[in-house]
Amino acid sequence: MPGKPTSRRAAATAGGGARSAEAPANTGSHLRRGAAAAQQAADEAQQAAERRASGGDVWRLWLADDASVRPGTECEGYPEGIPKNLADIIILDATLEDIVGQHEHNLKIAGRYGNFETCPKEFDHCAVCDNGDQGYYILFLSILALIPWTSKKGDKSGSYTKMLLAVKAGQFAELQEVLHNAQQSNNGVLRGTYLHMKRTVNDSNASNIGIPRALDGGMLFDHYSEEELISEFGHVASMSNEGKVMKEENQDIMPYDYNKLFPKPDAEAIRRRHGGKAQPGSAAEASEAWGAGEPEQTAQRTAPRRRPPPAPTPAEEEDDLPFDQGAQQPDAADPFANEQG
Ligand SMILES: [Zn+2]
Repeated sequence: MPGKPTSRRAAATAGGGARSAEAPANTGSHLRRGAAAAQQAADEAQQAAERRASGGDVWRLWLADDASVRPGTECEGYPEGIPKNLADIIILDATLEDIVGQHEHNLKIAGRYGNFETCPKEFDHCAVCDNGDQGYYILFLSILALIPWTSKKGDKSGSYTKMLLAVKAGQFAELQEVLHNAQQSNNGVLRGTYLHMKRTVNDSNASNIGIPRALDGGMLFDHYSEEELISEFGHVASMSNEGKVMKEENQDIMPYDYNKLFPKPDAEAIRRRHGGKAQPGSAAEASEAWGAGEPEQTAQRTAPRRRPPPAPTPAEEEDDLPFDQGAQQPDAADPFANEQG
């Protein structure tokens, strides 16, 4: 029975309460010693994990071509559990003006899709396009996916996950109409729009994020007010042992910072990761063709190194998830597998 859940969820209380951030004094050495240095290393590692979690590696909603139930998803709205082709979501972006789009490649590495590389072809050369991969124009929204989850270790759980809704350009029009109506009916505010997304099974052309289906009462959308978002999904700030803010208050219900999430791609870095010839006239070409003649460079010129992007380690993926993401992905990060696989 689709419908906006009524249960109240206790606010998460990871870490201590919010503290005000003060600018550090610019005095003394910048070096830290001993325990302080070790602590900073731990903090930096945590931040790196968070950057990964809030960078291009954030979860993307993906619905399966399979209506069987996801294990462990029994909840008030779905006493039997939530089918794999279905997700109730809440849009976090303020308005339709806030959503972003970019060209992107979804690369198959080690037999799996879900390795995304932003395509620079609009303003630079793209080595991945050269390799014959077809990119897509993708629009992104920030959402909460209301799917209960438990970590593989079983020590963490939650009832929702912040994710990206990655919508292929060709599939956006239908969703856009619903979102437009939702925004219009809510004084121009898209944020808080609640949708019941369902993927049609046994249809290879069906969108793998699903399409909005009617809720109880026949409407295609409902709304959470800002107060409801905060009371249902808000949380306090979490702090490191040193008092550094690791996660801002209510960060889980704020849209992603897309500029941070999708930095402008560096065509040369992409070429180095995926192979291909340096572009005529580029500094890299000059160095590879006329460089100091070091053996490594010569070797590189005759046989360009193909370095796949670093794959996330299984430990990071499965066992040591950053606390703000600590979700088992509802399913594979494989939005376009059907089209390409
Ligand atoms: Zn490209």
